[in-house]
Parts: sequence; structure tokens; C-alpha cells
Amino acid sequence: MASTSPIPKAEAPRDCPLCPRLVALRGQLRREYPGWWNAPVPAFGDRDAWLAIVGLAPGKRGANRTGRPFTGDHAGDLLFSTLLKFDLAEGEYRGDPSDSLRLKGAIILNTIKCLPPGNKPEPGEIANCRPYFETALAALPKVRIVVALGQIAHVAAAKSMGLARTMFGHGTEAVAPDGRILLSSYHCSRQNTNTGRLTHAMFESVFERAVALGELG
Ligand code: SF4
Repeated sequence: MASTSPIPKAEAPRDCPLCPRLVALRGQLRREYPGWWNAPVPAFGDRDAWLAIVGLAPGKRGANRTGRPFTGDHAGDLLFSTLLKFDLAEGEYRGDPSDSLRLKGAIILNTIKCLPPGNKPEPGEIANCRPYFETALAALPKVRIVVALGQIAHVAAAKSMGLARTMFGHGTEAVAPDGRILLSSYHCSRQNTNTGRLTHAMFESVFERAVALGELG
């Protein structure tokens, strides 16, 4: 069983039926890889977090395989090494939910909880999963900073924070009506790092800023 941090009322049932395209892929992968998680992926991290990190969706051989967000793929290598560097995590990340990694003051949510084909969810699927995402964020009252990874996560987080018009860009910041701050980053996917769109330094700069804002209280 994955070492996750389910948030009551914000986690989908294992056989959530709401997105037929994703349900079909889930069924196919359960037949092909019966040892994989192949189900909606719960939150992972500190339930008293001040920082929420919002990803897009489980990666096929990452969270969809292991059951823990960002665990087991390239994106997780960069994300967790960054969280460890900024003291937002402790323990050892080994790409497996049985490792000793624990998040400190941070929690990871996904915009949608099931693997979409080609990592590209359709608008209706994002809408279907939005209540889970919004319930999760609302259940984390200590969160003051939200880091969105990629444009889809940025849009979902902005909507849930009451930010009607915010432009997505790497390093953009927006203050919500309740004072929470949305920071956005290019997604730490292999595609972005391999093409040089996102460097490690660029990614780390977002978390450096998040920590600085967090320390301001
Ligand atoms: S993406 Fe969300 S709403 Fe859609 S099937 Fe998975 S858990 Fe259900």
C-alpha cells in the first residue's frame, strides 16, 4: 500500500466512474499490469501543510504505477530533490512509496486523479475531478502558498482560489482575495527539462520564492 496522505471527502473511490475515457485506460492497464496501482491517486504530504503543490495528473509509470504522486518517474526525481534541498521534505527518495520520504509543511495534489492518455486530460475530465481537487484544497486551512506545475494546474488552482484572471507563466505570482498566493512553474516533466524549457535552476527558483514568502508568514 502506498504511503500517501488521503484527505477525507477529497479522495475518489478506487473505481470512480466519472471519466469514461480514463476508466477505459485504467481497465486496460489493470489487465496489462495487475501489480500497478491503476486507480485514482490520493494526496501525499503533510496535512498541516502551509504549501500546496499542484500537479497535472498521475504519470503512467510514475504515480499511476506506484500510487504516490510524482513517485517513480522523471518528474518526481526533480520535484523531490528540490523539496529535499529546500527542507520541505526529509528522508530518502527512492522512487517507491516504501521509501522513507516524508514531506514537511508541504502537500502534493493533482488536478485530476487518474492517468489521462498522452498526459492530456480533456476539459470535461478536468471538470469532473475539480470537486475532489477543490475539496482537498479547502480541507487544508493552513495552506498560504500554492505552487502550480504547468498551465492546467495553474488554471485549476486559480479558479479554486478565486483568481479570475491570472496569466500563466514560469515564476508568475498572484494574490488571491483571501491573501493566499499562487506561484506558477513550468511542469517538471521530462519533455520540459530535456528541451531546456525548464532548467533545474528555474525550477528551484520557484521553491526558493515559495519558502521566502512562507517565512514572511
Ligand atoms: S479523473 Fe477524477 S473524476 Fe475522473 S474518473 Fe478519475 S477520479 Fe474520477
